[in-house]
Amino acid sequence: MKHTHPHNKTEVKALKKIIVIGSGYGGVTAAALLQKSGCSVTLLEAAAEWGGCAGKFQRRKFVFPVGATLAMGLNNDSIHGKINRFLEINVEAFRLSTVMDVTVNNETIKYYSNKESFLQMWRKKLPASADKVEAFFREVWFLSAILQKHMNEFPVIYPHTYQETAALLRGMSRNSLRLLPLRNKSFKYMLKKHGLTEEYMLREFLDNVLMDSLQTTSDKCSLLMGAAALDIYHEDAWYIEGGHYRLIEKMIESLKDNGGQVLKPRKALEVEKNGKMWSVKDHRGNVHEAEHVILNMPLSNAEKILNEKDRSSLKKKLRYAVSDREQWGAFSLYFGIKDVMGENAPLFQQFTAGENSLSDSSHFFVSASASEDRRRAPEGHRSLTISTHVDLKNWSTKEMYDKKSSKLKQQVKSRLEKAYPGFQDSIVYEITGGPSAWERFTLRMDGGVGGFPQIPGYSLTDAVSHRSGIKGLWICGDTVFPGAGSIGAASSGVHTARSILKRRIL
Ligand SMILES: Cc1cc2nc3c(=O)[nH]c(=O)nc-3n(C[C@H](O)[C@H](O)[C@H](O)COP(=O)(O)OP(=O)(O)OC[C@H]3O[C@@H](n4cnc5c(N)ncnc54)[C@H](O)[C@@H]3O)c2cc1C
Repeated sequence: MKHTHPHNKTEVKALKKIIVIGSGYGGVTAAALLQKSGCSVTLLEAAAEWGGCAGKFQRRKFVFPVGATLAMGLNNDSIHGKINRFLEINVEAFRLSTVMDVTVNNETIKYYSNKESFLQMWRKKLPASADKVEAFFREVWFLSAILQKHMNEFPVIYPHTYQETAALLRGMSRNSLRLLPLRNKSFKYMLKKHGLTEEYMLREFLDNVLMDSLQTTSDKCSLLMGAAALDIYHEDAWYIEGGHYRLIEKMIESLKDNGGQVLKPRKALEVEKNGKMWSVKDHRGNVHEAEHVILNMPLSNAEKILNEKDRSSLKKKLRYAVSDREQWGAFSLYFGIKDVMGENAPLFQQFTAGENSLSDSSHFFVSASASEDRRRAPEGHRSLTISTHVDLKNWSTKEMYDKKSSKLKQQVKSRLEKAYPGFQDSIVYEITGGPSAWERFTLRMDGGVGGFPQIPGYSLTDAVSHRSGIKGLWICGDTVFPGAGSIGAASSGVHTARSILKRRIL
């Protein structure tokens, strides 16, 4: 085992004890960065697998990513690129030249990584509006570039420390001020500005992609968050061999190699402040003590794990968010199939199920394993993870689940049969899961997943901070700033680690 040697005596003195609860992207990122920086970290995970929504499960010879499949931010200067370099880890992954196929009615729109090919494709799809569509995307990318310069420095809103202020300043450019008047605008504003509100195919395309990345559609989505999400698919979208869980596992290995402690399955039941220290009681009755506790779980879970006294000291904004903000649920289908998809089948695709869909968003996201990915399926086979957003209110009982799930499954199978003749007969293993399965396996309260919809009012300056309001208690994951999927969750892990260390890490 390799141990980290703190660089000097001051650091030895300042060695901090930290407990991280939850091994989702946020928690594992914070834990690995802190341990590598000389802290003493203990990570507790309740489930049998690491990674939460970015984890995996295995059935027969198939490995299924449980939720997250498409990876972003692995370029050298992007978030995972920087984290991986700092931790000296690597995963086998390849950049996607076509990120996904989005099917709207019977029209397939290819999300080319290359921006010029992408614009050319739109020119063919919407010749009458081609110039407007091009101007629209160029402005979206322009905004994203300004934002990206900020994002690369891991800014938080609002900065509390010298390091956070410095990060914000480093991200500044001549154009930064242009973002200010747009911070409360939605994508609707941009579509209107370019005269594209009535362009159904473009809107459906945006709705599919934004729903998947930011949990909301173009009419409501924050313009700035949406611009960043649409842009990152160009040149920085990846397929990780095996799946996201590989990256999570690498971070866990780094944590262990550097002397950290990892406990699984180990559920934290109570978190309590005693003087200057925190104590965490786990389901085996052990009590762990530390100066800092990081809760890598949704805000509603975080609130519940505290006693009444500590809960009442949480920031008001955080408590309001728990009662006011809702997440989507997910219905997921997992298929192990004999490969009838053919060599050129897209690894990621989305389709709209249409008006008769039983899904509450009517968008389906289909991720297939690469034909050569032996970590996920045996030779000649593929593993598929498919998900759709569902309204938690419509899936709260077993009767509701039974009624909807079998019909929804049939709808998905028929759609895939149309795309890949022989699909239904090729299935060798199948399993589905609704919100209660998500709650059971990731502990996310009521099965709410993906983080809050990134609408103005919930995002950017209105997002909830990783600071809980109580000294030594931090929250990370996809329900705190910046939100939005695995990249958002990992960013919150970086923010938390930096706040605890009180210095720049990446
Ligand atoms: C269906 C679906 C598809 C998705 N697709 C993508 C995608 O393609 N690309 C992408 O980037 N993102 C995707 N996402 C989003 C992404 O997976 C999540 O936003 C991200 O992984 C959440 O990370 P997190 O840090 O919030 O932790 P979580 O994933 O919520 O993990 C928290 C962990 O903490 C553990 N835990 C909770 N409470 C306790 C406790 N008391 N004691 C011990 N352990 C505890 C849980 O067991 C869990 O393992 C998808 C999400 C879903 C649901």
